[in-house]
Amino acid sequence: MIRKEAIIVVGGGIAGIVTALELVTAGREVILVDRDTEQNFGGLAKESFGGLLIVDSPIQRRHGIQDSPARALADWLSFGELDARSGWPYRWAEAYVSECRRDIYEWLLAQDVRFLPMPQWVERRGNSVPRWHIVWGTGQVLAARLIERLRATEFNSRLTCLFNHRIEYFLRHNQRVVGCAGVREDSGEVFNIEGAAVVVAAGGINGSLAQVRAHWPQDCGEPPRILLNGAHRFADGTLHNAVRVIGGALTHLDRMWNYAAGVRHWQPRKPDHGLSLVPPRGALWLDAAGNRFDPPLLAGIDTSEQVARIARAGGISWQILNRKIALRELAVSGAEFNPSIRERRPLAFLRDMLFGNRWLLDTLLANCPDIVAAATLPELIDKMQSLHAPDKLNGDAIASAVHAYDNAITRGEWQSDAQLLNIANARQWRGDRLRTANFCPILKSSAGPLLAIREHIISRKSLGGIATDLHSRALDHNGAPIPGLYAVGEAAGFGGGGMNGKRALEGTFLGGCIFSARRAARALIHA
Ligand SMILES: Cc1cc2nc3c(=O)[nH]c(=O)nc-3n(C[C@H](O)[C@H](O)[C@H](O)COP(=O)(O)OP(=O)(O)OC[C@H]3O[C@@H](n4cnc5c(N)ncnc54)[C@H](O)[C@@H]3O)c2cc1C
Repeated sequence: MIRKEAIIVVGGGIAGIVTALELVTAGREVILVDRDTEQNFGGLAKESFGGLLIVDSPIQRRHGIQDSPARALADWLSFGELDARSGWPYRWAEAYVSECRRDIYEWLLAQDVRFLPMPQWVERRGNSVPRWHIVWGTGQVLAARLIERLRATEFNSRLTCLFNHRIEYFLRHNQRVVGCAGVREDSGEVFNIEGAAVVVAAGGINGSLAQVRAHWPQDCGEPPRILLNGAHRFADGTLHNAVRVIGGALTHLDRMWNYAAGVRHWQPRKPDHGLSLVPPRGALWLDAAGNRFDPPLLAGIDTSEQVARIARAGGISWQILNRKIALRELAVSGAEFNPSIRERRPLAFLRDMLFGNRWLLDTLLANCPDIVAAATLPELIDKMQSLHAPDKLNGDAIASAVHAYDNAITRGEWQSDAQLLNIANARQWRGDRLRTANFCPILKSSAGPLLAIREHIISRKSLGGIATDLHSRALDHNGAPIPGLYAVGEAAGFGGGGMNGKRALEGTFLGGCIFSARRAARALIHA
């Protein structure tokens, strides 16, 4: 296929969709190519929870939160360990905090996307104020709205979507990228597509556990024997490699945003399919042998620290809690297990907030192979041992950790326990008060049954990727743009080949996809 004027967008996730939408809206012709089926159009965004980092929004102001680009940048740089010497990632971070309200939040409002009325306070070691704005309807509605817009009849003549088309390499003419080539997933037929330029929007590398292991972060020790997959099954680095082959720079592939509390999906849609639990603040977090982490692992503070400590301890951990804590605090990241928000049912959402999400807990208990329940602690330990290797899990250590924690609560010694301090602190912010149970002894008889969750590290986002400038142009090793080649979204480390640095404030992933996509489109429109 040759369409001299068309921009070829490789990848139909949110980054590709936004790029295509902006281009067709400006009157440009687009060929959007994806190796997945049409049913999965939308990529990971469709599965996501839909939390976006926005700075100084009207929603924050309504809650009296004083935020500003300068404050957000200070948080971002210190958490991500970035500075002006970091080059493009630093410049992307600076641009994001300054422009996200207009280029992401207001732009999404114009696309008829709405947000919950209160921002959440995630990654508290990084964010000095709540900034995580949740789309009413989760990422599923976010993706659906943008796809609807893209497919609006007025643009139909300018847009061609090709599904089941796997791109493997780029076509060049006089050093300029003029197209790409690959194989059809359904028929095995090889094909070429030529146009004016190519935008890589093919996601990160964390959908391939082999890639995750190959680039495993140094501070996480050896990659654990078992890893779960929480990323796109086609986010395997094929296009990263194709960029490398033509001289493009890949940066920071060893920076990744994995999660600590993964459990197995009982209806897997890909090998090693995992679900990422939002770790309950009130659960006791134990290592693979049954000892409480020392100092205690804290939920909601610093994801990368959790992952690094668990990984260095072998990759398996346990959380012990009771039904009362679970109802209030247990959650699964993403659209799939948050139906009241996903389906925009305000009464059901309110009921879950006030009385706890019974449906979620019952569903997990009935199906998830990594969760056990019991009436007494000895019975729970037996069940944990039968799930794991009995000789590797020390029942005495578990019992002593549970009793020591409960004693700290019943004796009122909460100030000496970092986890209890964390709970008290979280409950100061009204957005967390409903979602965080007050101090609750694990063995409190009216709060049972007892629950234990076996957790593995689950791969998720690639923080590094294809190096780009502020126009999302892919760069070579000398920092010069490769003519005709652009990269957006997770493929580009959300901008600049790694704008988050070592750690992310959260919500900068969907946000970074939209931001980098709009910048690429703007550059292409004015090229
Ligand atoms: C459960 C879950 C919850 C999440 N929650 C949040 C959240 O609340 N906030 C947040 O900021 N982020 C969240 N994320 C992360 C966020 O969804 C992703 O980082 C983002 O959607 C990535 O978008 P993308 O367009 O860059 O890539 P993807 O969505 O991965 O899309 C890439 C597309 O490229 C296609 N592709 C890949 N290789 C090829 C090839 N060789 N040829 C052709 N096509 C190819 C794929 O089929 C896919 O459709 C979450 C992710 C998950 C899984």
